Amino acid sequence: MAENKKKESKESKFAYKKKSAWEIFTKEQIKKSFDFCVDYKNFLNIAKTEREAIKYINENAKKAGKNIIINKDKSAAIIVLGKKHISQGVRIVISHIDSPRLDLKQIPLYEEVTCNVALFETHYYGGIKKFHWVVIPLALHGVVVKKNSKKLSFSIGEKDTDPIFSVPDLLPHLSRKVQDTKKISEAVAGESLDILVGSQPAKGDFSEKIKTAILDKINKDYGITEEDFVSAELEAVPALKARDLGFDRSLIAAYGQDDRVCAYTAYKAIMDLKNPEFTSIALFVDKEEIGSEGNTTAQVSTFLRSVIKQIDKNVDIDGVMLKSKVVSADVNAAVTPNYTEVFELKNASTLGNGVVMSKFTGHGGKYSANDASAEYVSEIRTILNKEKIPWQTAELGKVDNGGGGTVAKYFSRLGMEVIDLGPAVMSMHSPYEITSKVDVYSSYLAYKAFLKY
Ligand code: MN
Ligand code: MN
Repeated sequence: MAENKKKESKESKFAYKKKSAWEIFTKEQIKKSFDFCVDYKNFLNIAKTEREAIKYINENAKKAGKNIIINKDKSAAIIVLGKKHISQGVRIVISHIDSPRLDLKQIPLYEEVTCNVALFETHYYGGIKKFHWVVIPLALHGVVVKKNSKKLSFSIGEKDTDPIFSVPDLLPHLSRKVQDTKKISEAVAGESLDILVGSQPAKGDFSEKIKTAILDKINKDYGITEEDFVSAELEAVPALKARDLGFDRSLIAAYGQDDRVCAYTAYKAIMDLKNPEFTSIALFVDKEEIGSEGNTTAQVSTFLRSVIKQIDKNVDIDGVMLKSKVVSADVNAAVTPNYTEVFELKNASTLGNGVVMSKFTGHGGKYSANDASAEYVSEIRTILNKEKIPWQTAELGKVDNGGGGTVAKYFSRLGMEVIDLGPAVMSMHSPYEITSKVDVYSSYLAYKAFLKY
């Protein structure tokens, strides 16, 4: 075989090369990745809102005898005590459980007499491309607190036998003036994202027959009146099931993977955690997609302080925080076919290359960034390498092309070490986001390893 001389490598042995999770993982680990994602898809189908995610996590954590504390049905902490006392600091993996969607307004129902239909008014939640949300099947999830203070939980549109809802769009034949010549961000207006909810008029002498019939129907079915919508949180989410994508089934397409992919993998990691060195907390927070504003979010440290106090009421909380280490479990943007020009490819995340370490977030000039220290990045990198967990490093897009942030900065403000760690997602913030099964599994392994040390 003399002729088949090994070609000399052109790359320096000191060069860094991003590795594929498909190569690093053993055959068994790849199988485990696929198996892991069966239940992950199930979680995505069950937990399409922040409340549903907390309910799932709470029920399963309690069933397994875990210590879990719930805050207002929208955020939670699972705690596993470590060998060292809590005064030595804690390990936290924090993820968010809210996703972009269409929220109903407080007086949502109206009849469009010129069209013979009834609709719900919406106000979109989070950063969406509005044209993604028309003509797809939508389900309504959420709660209505009725006049008698009774809380009703809703989920309509998920079962095959359920009706769905949808935002109508204009046919291409007539969209030339009102859509086609506009900027894509203006082609579908925020006020145009109203949802069709019915068309059959009531019999009788009513001024709005269709609206009347809808009110009658929802009162009959759920006992709610129009005023009850004022004290409701109803969210229209894609009525799409999580599915395997591709001939090889290597990818997952589903709604809400930002950031429930991290919520699920963090939840699994702490459920499987045994005898960690430091007290470990998996924290799940709400409203990240609207800037973490509100009493169930990462900006409010009161809940975390209360959790630490519940572990040891005499501990010096600031002292604990200064010694604590955090993984901000959130997704990064996967380099997207046909649009690779917005990424700086050496420093961008790609599907199938494992969990993404983002040293810093923010935008132009690192504004509003959490920038993890070199020392902390080294710690995380060492753990991942030691455990042979596939990882890559990335920032979100080219310099000055945009950017984004996560909850990391709110925890670094408390004096903790914080870094972003999570899988790459393609089509992020769309109704059908895409992840790779080996990246999902890598994230689970990464969170578990982080909490263990
Ligand atoms: Mn996110
Ligand atoms: Mn997001």
